[in-house]
Amino acid sequence: MILVSACLCGINCKYNGGNNIDEKVLQMVRGGLAIPVCPEQLGGLPTPRTPAEIKIVDGEKRVVTKDGRDVTENYQKGAQEVLRIAQELKIKKAILKKKSPSCGLDEIYDGTFSNNLTKGNGVTTDLLLKNDIEVENV
Ligand code: SF4
Repeated sequence: MILVSACLCGINCKYNGGNNIDEKVLQMVRGGLAIPVCPEQLGGLPTPRTPAEIKIVDGEKRVVTKDGRDVTENYQKGAQEVLRIAQELKIKKAILKKKSPSCGLDEIYDGTFSNNLTKGNGVTTDLLLKNDIEVENV
């Protein structure tokens, strides 16, 4: 069993109320091989929601919405909930959505809301990796 970003299997949990459907991921869910999770919803954020990106504020990594609200706590709570699901089910691998401030691996948006990328992981990806859960991006 693996975890997958819920938006990749067609669930409309993306910030704009849409999804990022990926047929292969959807087939894994249909076949009972994968469980969909959306850390931003699990962290208590609404859908649709104002987009957010990771940036450094006063030397600290924070998640801030386009209109300047700090939503770091929601992102951290969502990451903890995803980790809890993985641990309860003894899951050791996740396939998550690239570039997301929650789900991205190695490359995320740079905090300027101008489509520029920078090196780094999303908040959930970071927490899963620290707990020895493999993360892949699509
Ligand atoms: S938090 Fe992850 S699962 Fe949820 S919409 Fe964003 S990329 Fe998809």
